[in-house]
Amino acid sequence: MESVFSDEQKVELLADLVKFKSVNDGEEQVANYISQLFKKHNISTQVMPVAKNRVNLIAEVGSGKPVIGISGHMDVVDPGDLSRWDTDPFVLTEKEGKLFGRGATDMKSGLAAFIIALIDIKEFNLLKSGTIRLMATVGEEIGEQGSQTFFEQNTMDDVDALVIGEPSGYNLVYAHKGSMDIKLTSQGKAAHSSMPDLGYNAIDPLLNILSAANKQFGSTGKKSQLLGNLSFNTTVFNGGNQVNSIPEEAVAEINVRTIPEFNNHEVTKIMQELVDDENKKGAKVDMDVYMSLNSVQHSKDNKLINSAKSIGEKYFKNDIPKMVSPGVTDASNLLKNKDVEFPFIVFGPGEPNVCHQPNEYVEKQMYLDFIDIYKQLLTEY
Ligand SMILES: [Zn+2]
Repeated sequence: MESVFSDEQKVELLADLVKFKSVNDGEEQVANYISQLFKKHNISTQVMPVAKNRVNLIAEVGSGKPVIGISGHMDVVDPGDLSRWDTDPFVLTEKEGKLFGRGATDMKSGLAAFIIALIDIKEFNLLKSGTIRLMATVGEEIGEQGSQTFFEQNTMDDVDALVIGEPSGYNLVYAHKGSMDIKLTSQGKAAHSSMPDLGYNAIDPLLNILSAANKQFGSTGKKSQLLGNLSFNTTVFNGGNQVNSIPEEAVAEINVRTIPEFNNHEVTKIMQELVDDENKKGAKVDMDVYMSLNSVQHSKDNKLINSAKSIGEKYFKNDIPKMVSPGVTDASNLLKNKDVEFPFIVFGPGEPNVCHQPNEYVEKQMYLDFIDIYKQLLTEY
Protein backbone atom coordinates (compact mmCIF):
# COMPACT_ATOMS: atom_id res chain seq x y z
CA MET A 1 0.00 0.00 0.00
CA GLU A 2 1.13 3.53 -0.67
CA SER A 3 2.70 5.30 2.27
CA VAL A 4 4.38 8.57 3.14
CA PHE A 5 7.09 6.46 4.78
CA SER A 6 9.52 3.94 3.31
CA ASP A 7 9.91 0.67 5.24
CA GLU A 8 13.20 2.00 6.55
CA GLN A 9 11.51 5.14 7.85
CA LYS A 10 8.78 3.06 9.47
CA VAL A 11 11.42 1.16 11.41
CA GLU A 12 13.19 4.44 12.25
CA LEU A 13 10.00 5.83 13.72
CA LEU A 14 9.70 2.78 15.98
CA ALA A 15 13.36 3.19 16.93
CA ASP A 16 12.64 6.80 17.91
CA LEU A 17 9.84 5.69 20.23
CA VAL A 18 11.96 2.92 21.77
CA LYS A 19 14.70 5.47 22.51
CA PHE A 20 12.49 7.25 25.05
CA LYS A 21 12.96 5.59 28.43
CA SER A 22 9.31 5.88 29.36
CA VAL A 23 9.61 3.30 32.13
CA ASN A 24 6.42 3.84 34.12
CA ASP A 25 7.07 7.57 33.83
CA GLY A 26 8.14 10.34 31.43
CA GLU A 27 5.54 9.61 28.73
CA GLU A 28 5.57 13.35 28.01
CA GLN A 29 8.62 12.96 25.76
CA VAL A 30 6.84 10.29 23.72
CA ALA A 31 3.71 12.44 23.47
CA ASN A 32 5.69 15.50 22.38
CA TYR A 33 7.41 13.50 19.67
CA ILE A 34 4.09 12.19 18.39
CA SER A 35 2.40 15.60 18.43
CA GLN A 36 5.27 17.25 16.54
CA LEU A 37 5.09 14.54 13.93
CA PHE A 38 1.30 14.87 13.62
CA LYS A 39 1.62 18.65 13.36
CA LYS A 40 3.78 18.23 10.25
CA HIS A 41 0.94 16.28 8.70
CA ASN A 42 -1.83 18.62 9.86
CA ILE A 43 -3.37 16.13 12.27
CA SER A 44 -4.98 17.86 15.23
CA THR A 45 -3.49 16.77 18.52
CA GLN A 46 -4.06 17.52 22.17
CA VAL A 47 -1.91 16.59 25.13
CA MET A 48 -3.46 16.43 28.57
CA PRO A 49 -1.41 16.34 31.76
CA VAL A 50 -2.10 13.41 34.08
CA ALA A 51 0.83 13.88 36.47
CA LYS A 52 4.28 15.48 36.42
CA ASN A 53 6.03 14.52 33.12
CA ARG A 54 3.08 12.33 32.27
CA VAL A 55 0.57 13.31 29.61
CA ASN A 56 -2.14 11.53 27.65
CA LEU A 57 -2.45 12.34 23.97
CA ILE A 58 -5.47 12.53 21.67
CA ALA A 59 -5.24 12.90 17.91
CA GLU A 60 -8.05 12.85 15.40
CA VAL A 61 -8.50 12.37 11.70
CA GLY A 62 -11.85 12.91 9.97
CA SER A 63 -15.08 14.20 11.44
CA GLY A 64 -18.52 13.07 12.56
CA LYS A 65 -19.88 9.61 13.17
CA PRO A 66 -19.01 6.83 13.47
CA VAL A 67 -16.07 7.41 15.80
CA ILE A 68 -13.58 4.58 15.96
CA GLY A 69 -11.24 4.72 18.93
CA ILE A 70 -7.72 3.33 18.76
CA SER A 71 -5.57 3.15 21.83
CA GLY A 72 -2.08 2.29 22.94
CA HIS A 73 0.09 3.03 25.94
CA MET A 74 3.30 5.06 25.85
CA ASP A 75 4.93 3.55 28.95
CA VAL A 76 7.06 0.41 29.08
CA VAL A 77 8.16 -1.85 31.91
CA ASP A 78 11.64 -1.70 33.37
CA PRO A 79 14.27 -3.53 31.29
CA GLY A 80 15.45 -5.29 34.47
CA ASP A 81 18.89 -6.90 34.63
CA LEU A 82 20.75 -5.43 31.63
CA SER A 83 23.19 -8.35 31.55
CA ARG A 84 20.31 -10.54 30.43
CA TRP A 85 19.88 -8.43 27.29
CA ASP A 86 22.02 -9.14 24.20
CA THR A 87 21.50 -5.56 23.00
CA ASP A 88 20.81 -2.13 24.50
CA PRO A 89 17.08 -2.24 25.36
CA PHE A 90 16.61 1.39 24.30
CA VAL A 91 18.35 1.06 20.93
CA LEU A 92 16.13 -0.79 18.49
CA THR A 93 18.35 -3.46 16.94
CA GLU A 94 17.55 -5.55 13.88
CA LYS A 95 18.71 -9.15 13.76
CA GLU A 96 17.44 -11.82 11.39
CA GLY A 97 14.18 -10.08 10.66
CA LYS A 98 13.47 -9.32 14.29
CA LEU A 99 13.53 -5.89 15.93
CA PHE A 100 14.80 -6.04 19.52
CA GLY A 101 14.21 -3.45 22.23
CA ARG A 102 12.14 -2.63 25.30
CA GLY A 103 8.64 -1.92 24.04
CA ALA A 104 9.33 -3.46 20.62
CA THR A 105 6.38 -5.72 21.33
CA ASP A 106 4.64 -4.12 24.32
CA MET A 107 3.66 -1.84 22.77
CA LYS A 108 5.61 0.80 20.91
CA SER A 109 5.25 -1.15 17.66
CA GLY A 110 1.46 -1.06 18.02
CA LEU A 111 1.62 2.64 18.78
CA ALA A 112 3.98 3.33 15.85
CA ALA A 113 1.72 1.35 13.51
CA PHE A 114 -1.28 3.45 14.59
CA ILE A 115 0.69 6.67 14.08
CA ILE A 116 1.85 5.78 10.56
CA ALA A 117 -1.60 4.48 9.61
CA LEU A 118 -3.17 7.76 10.75
CA ILE A 119 -0.67 9.87 8.81
CA ASP A 120 -1.19 7.87 5.63
CA ILE A 121 -4.97 7.97 6.03
CA LYS A 122 -4.75 11.74 6.39
CA GLU A 123 -2.23 12.35 3.59
CA PHE A 124 -3.93 10.10 1.03
CA ASN A 125 -7.41 11.12 2.14
CA LEU A 126 -8.43 7.51 2.68
CA LEU A 127 -11.20 8.12 5.22
CA LYS A 128 -14.51 8.72 3.47
CA SER A 129 -16.64 9.29 6.57
CA GLY A 130 -16.43 9.33 10.34
CA THR A 131 -13.60 9.95 12.77
CA ILE A 132 -10.57 8.00 13.94
CA ARG A 133 -9.51 9.02 17.45
CA LEU A 134 -6.14 7.92 18.81
CA MET A 135 -5.97 7.81 22.60
CA ALA A 136 -2.39 7.28 23.78
CA THR A 137 -2.17 6.58 27.49
CA VAL A 138 0.27 6.85 30.36
CA GLY A 139 0.86 4.30 33.06
CA GLU A 140 -0.83 1.26 31.54
CA GLU A 141 1.71 -1.08 33.08
CA ILE A 142 1.11 0.17 36.61
CA GLY A 143 -2.35 1.28 37.71
CA GLU A 144 -3.76 2.29 34.32
CA GLN A 145 -4.06 5.91 35.34
CA GLY A 146 -4.09 7.26 31.78
CA SER A 147 -7.12 5.29 30.63
CA GLN A 148 -8.91 6.11 33.89
CA THR A 149 -8.32 9.80 33.10
CA PHE A 150 -9.71 9.37 29.57
CA PHE A 151 -12.77 7.73 31.07
CA GLU A 152 -13.25 10.54 33.58
CA GLN A 153 -12.85 13.17 30.86
CA ASN A 154 -15.61 11.46 28.82
CA THR A 155 -13.25 10.89 25.90
CA MET A 156 -14.94 7.56 25.18
CA ASP A 157 -18.53 8.81 25.37
CA ASP A 158 -19.11 9.23 21.62
CA VAL A 159 -16.83 6.37 20.55
CA ASP A 160 -18.58 3.57 18.62
CA ALA A 161 -15.85 0.92 18.48
CA LEU A 162 -12.42 0.40 20.04
CA VAL A 163 -9.19 -1.20 18.86
CA ILE A 164 -6.38 -1.60 21.38
CA GLY A 165 -3.00 -2.18 19.75
CA GLU A 166 -1.50 -4.35 22.50
CA PRO A 167 0.53 -7.28 21.16
CA SER A 168 -1.88 -10.02 20.15
CA GLY A 169 0.08 -11.10 17.10
CA TYR A 170 -2.25 -12.88 14.70
CA ASN A 171 -4.95 -13.47 17.28
CA LEU A 172 -8.07 -11.44 17.98
CA VAL A 173 -8.76 -10.82 21.64
CA TYR A 174 -12.26 -9.75 22.65
CA ALA A 175 -12.31 -10.55 26.39
CA HIS A 176 -10.06 -10.58 29.43
CA LYS A 177 -10.34 -10.94 33.19
CA GLY A 178 -10.34 -8.02 35.60
CA SER A 179 -7.65 -7.41 38.17
CA MET A 180 -7.69 -6.08 41.73
CA ASP A 181 -4.91 -5.23 44.17
CA ILE A 182 -5.92 -5.18 47.82
CA LYS A 183 -3.84 -4.32 50.84
CA LEU A 184 -4.78 -5.36 54.38
CA THR A 185 -2.97 -3.65 57.23
CA SER A 186 -3.44 -5.04 60.73
CA GLN A 187 -2.45 -3.07 63.84
CA GLY A 188 -1.74 -4.98 67.03
CA LYS A 189 0.05 -4.24 70.26
CA ALA A 190 3.57 -5.43 70.93
CA ALA A 191 4.33 -7.44 74.05
CA HIS A 192 6.78 -10.09 75.17
CA SER A 193 5.57 -13.44 73.88
CA SER A 194 5.69 -14.82 77.44
CA MET A 195 2.94 -12.33 78.35
CA PRO A 196 0.73 -12.28 75.24
CA ASP A 197 -2.25 -10.97 77.19
CA LEU A 198 -0.51 -7.60 77.44
CA GLY A 199 -0.42 -7.31 73.67
CA TYR A 200 -2.51 -8.04 70.59
CA ASN A 201 -1.22 -10.23 67.80
CA ALA A 202 -1.49 -8.37 64.48
CA ILE A 203 -0.88 -11.48 62.38
CA ASP A 204 -3.76 -13.61 63.66
CA PRO A 205 -6.68 -11.58 62.27
CA LEU A 206 -5.03 -11.58 58.84
CA LEU A 207 -4.64 -15.36 58.96
CA ASN A 208 -8.35 -15.67 59.77
CA ILE A 209 -9.40 -13.31 56.99
CA LEU A 210 -7.14 -14.88 54.38
CA SER A 211 -8.09 -18.45 55.17
CA ALA A 212 -11.80 -17.58 55.14
CA ALA A 213 -11.28 -15.71 51.86
CA ASN A 214 -9.40 -18.62 50.29
CA LYS A 215 -12.29 -20.88 51.20
CA GLN A 216 -14.99 -18.53 49.92
CA PHE A 217 -13.30 -17.56 46.67
CA GLY A 218 -12.14 -21.12 46.03
CA SER A 219 -15.67 -22.48 45.98
CA THR A 220 -17.91 -19.77 44.58
CA GLY A 221 -19.58 -22.16 42.15
CA LYS A 222 -19.42 -19.34 39.61
CA LYS A 223 -17.45 -19.77 36.47
CA SER A 224 -17.17 -17.86 33.26
CA GLN A 225 -17.51 -20.19 30.29
CA LEU A 226 -15.12 -17.98 28.46
CA LEU A 227 -12.67 -16.75 31.11
CA GLY A 228 -12.72 -19.60 33.62
CA ASN A 229 -12.66 -19.16 37.38
CA LEU A 230 -11.97 -16.16 39.51
CA SER A 231 -8.53 -16.45 41.07
CA PHE A 232 -7.59 -15.14 44.49
CA ASN A 233 -3.98 -15.05 45.63
CA THR A 234 -2.23 -13.59 48.62
CA THR A 235 1.02 -12.43 47.05
CA VAL A 236 2.74 -10.48 49.86
CA PHE A 237 2.71 -11.20 53.58
CA ASN A 238 4.78 -9.39 56.20
CA GLY A 239 4.44 -9.26 59.95
CA GLY A 240 6.41 -9.26 63.15
CA ASN A 241 10.12 -8.73 63.60
CA GLN A 242 11.29 -10.94 66.43
CA VAL A 243 10.43 -14.51 67.34
CA ASN A 244 9.72 -13.80 71.02
CA SER A 245 7.65 -10.64 70.50
CA ILE A 246 3.96 -10.36 69.80
CA PRO A 247 3.77 -8.67 66.37
CA GLU A 248 2.53 -5.14 66.34
CA GLU A 249 1.83 -4.85 62.64
CA ALA A 250 1.12 -7.21 59.77
CA VAL A 251 0.43 -6.50 56.13
CA ALA A 252 -0.97 -8.72 53.41
CA GLU A 253 -1.39 -7.93 49.73
CA ILE A 254 -3.73 -9.79 47.49
CA ASN A 255 -4.26 -9.96 43.73
CA VAL A 256 -7.65 -11.08 42.47
CA ARG A 257 -8.46 -11.87 38.83
CA THR A 258 -12.16 -11.31 38.36
CA ILE A 259 -14.81 -12.48 35.90
CA PRO A 260 -18.15 -10.90 34.89
CA GLU A 261 -20.00 -13.58 36.91
CA PHE A 262 -18.11 -12.54 40.03
CA ASN A 263 -17.10 -8.94 39.66
CA ASN A 264 -14.85 -6.51 41.52
CA HIS A 265 -17.74 -5.04 43.45
CA GLU A 266 -18.75 -8.44 44.88
CA VAL A 267 -15.15 -9.25 45.79
CA THR A 268 -14.80 -5.95 47.67
CA LYS A 269 -18.06 -6.58 49.52
CA ILE A 270 -17.05 -10.06 50.69
CA MET A 271 -13.58 -8.92 51.74
CA GLN A 272 -15.06 -6.01 53.68
CA GLU A 273 -17.41 -8.39 55.52
CA LEU A 274 -14.52 -10.65 56.50
CA VAL A 275 -12.53 -7.65 57.72
CA ASP A 276 -15.53 -6.29 59.67
CA ASP A 277 -16.04 -9.68 61.36
CA GLU A 278 -12.46 -9.65 62.66
CA ASN A 279 -12.67 -6.00 63.70
CA LYS A 280 -15.81 -6.77 65.72
CA LYS A 281 -13.69 -9.28 67.67
CA GLY A 282 -11.15 -6.58 68.54
CA ALA A 283 -8.81 -6.53 65.56
CA LYS A 284 -7.78 -3.33 63.84
CA VAL A 285 -7.58 -4.24 60.19
CA ASP A 286 -7.76 -1.66 57.45
CA MET A 287 -8.55 -2.63 53.86
CA ASP A 288 -7.37 -0.63 50.85
CA VAL A 289 -8.46 -1.66 47.35
CA TYR A 290 -5.78 0.30 45.57
CA MET A 291 -6.37 -0.99 42.08
CA SER A 292 -9.61 -2.25 40.60
CA LEU A 293 -9.91 -3.00 36.90
CA ASN A 294 -13.04 -4.64 35.55
CA SER A 295 -13.14 -7.70 33.38
CA VAL A 296 -13.99 -7.09 29.75
CA GLN A 297 -16.15 -9.35 27.66
CA HIS A 298 -17.59 -8.30 24.33
CA SER A 299 -19.35 -9.87 21.40
CA LYS A 300 -17.16 -12.07 19.20
CA ASP A 301 -19.32 -11.51 16.20
CA ASN A 302 -19.55 -7.99 14.83
CA LYS A 303 -18.34 -5.96 11.89
CA LEU A 304 -15.14 -4.82 13.63
CA ILE A 305 -13.84 -8.22 14.69
CA ASN A 306 -14.91 -9.87 11.44
CA SER A 307 -13.26 -7.32 9.20
CA ALA A 308 -10.09 -7.42 11.32
CA LYS A 309 -10.12 -11.18 10.85
CA SER A 310 -10.56 -11.10 7.08
CA ILE A 311 -8.07 -8.26 6.51
CA GLY A 312 -5.52 -9.85 8.86
CA GLU A 313 -5.83 -13.26 7.22
CA LYS A 314 -4.73 -11.80 3.86
CA TYR A 315 -1.38 -11.01 5.50
CA PHE A 316 -1.08 -13.98 7.84
CA LYS A 317 -2.36 -16.42 5.19
CA ASN A 318 -3.74 -18.53 8.00
CA ASP A 319 -6.72 -18.60 10.33
CA ILE A 320 -6.77 -15.82 12.94
CA PRO A 321 -8.55 -17.19 16.01
CA LYS A 322 -10.86 -15.12 18.23
CA MET A 323 -9.77 -15.65 21.79
CA VAL A 324 -9.53 -14.40 25.36
CA SER A 325 -6.36 -13.14 26.96
CA PRO A 326 -5.13 -13.61 30.53
CA GLY A 327 -3.83 -10.04 31.07
CA VAL A 328 -5.69 -6.79 31.59
CA THR A 329 -5.56 -3.80 29.24
CA ASP A 330 -6.68 -0.17 29.24
CA ALA A 331 -10.02 -1.52 27.97
CA SER A 332 -11.02 -2.11 31.61
CA ASN A 333 -11.26 1.64 32.03
CA LEU A 334 -12.09 2.74 28.49
CA LEU A 335 -15.06 0.38 28.22
CA LYS A 336 -16.73 1.21 31.53
CA ASN A 337 -20.42 1.86 30.80
CA LYS A 338 -20.24 0.15 27.38
CA ASP A 339 -22.43 -2.92 26.90
CA VAL A 340 -21.43 -6.37 25.60
CA GLU A 341 -22.44 -5.49 22.06
CA PHE A 342 -19.92 -2.64 21.86
CA PRO A 343 -17.37 -3.63 19.21
CA PHE A 344 -13.96 -4.11 20.81
CA ILE A 345 -10.76 -5.92 19.91
CA VAL A 346 -7.18 -6.17 21.04
CA PHE A 347 -5.20 -6.54 17.82
CA GLY A 348 -1.60 -5.44 17.48
CA PRO A 349 1.87 -6.48 16.34
CA GLY A 350 4.15 -8.42 18.64
CA GLU A 351 4.61 -11.64 20.50
CA PRO A 352 2.47 -11.80 23.65
CA ASN A 353 4.92 -14.24 25.25
CA VAL A 354 7.98 -11.97 25.04
CA CYS A 355 6.29 -9.06 26.85
CA HIS A 356 8.15 -7.75 29.90
CA GLN A 357 11.14 -9.99 29.21
CA PRO A 358 14.77 -9.39 28.27
CA ASN A 359 15.37 -9.48 24.51
CA GLU A 360 11.81 -8.44 23.76
CA TYR A 361 11.28 -8.25 19.99
CA VAL A 362 8.76 -7.84 17.22
CA GLU A 363 8.99 -9.51 13.82
CA LYS A 364 9.78 -6.68 11.41
CA GLN A 365 7.39 -7.98 8.76
CA MET A 366 4.55 -8.26 11.26
CA TYR A 367 5.08 -4.67 12.34
CA LEU A 368 5.04 -3.47 8.73
CA ASP A 369 1.98 -5.59 7.92
CA PHE A 370 0.02 -4.20 10.85
CA ILE A 371 0.46 -0.67 9.48
CA ASP A 372 -1.36 -1.74 6.31
CA ILE A 373 -3.89 -3.81 8.24
CA TYR A 374 -4.78 -0.80 10.40
CA LYS A 375 -5.08 1.46 7.34
CA GLN A 376 -7.65 -0.89 5.81
CA LEU A 377 -9.48 -1.74 9.01
CA LEU A 378 -9.84 1.88 10.14
CA THR A 379 -11.05 3.17 6.81
CA GLU A 380 -13.36 0.25 6.01
CA TYR A 381 -15.12 0.27 9.35
ZN1 LIG B 1 1.03 -3.45 27.11
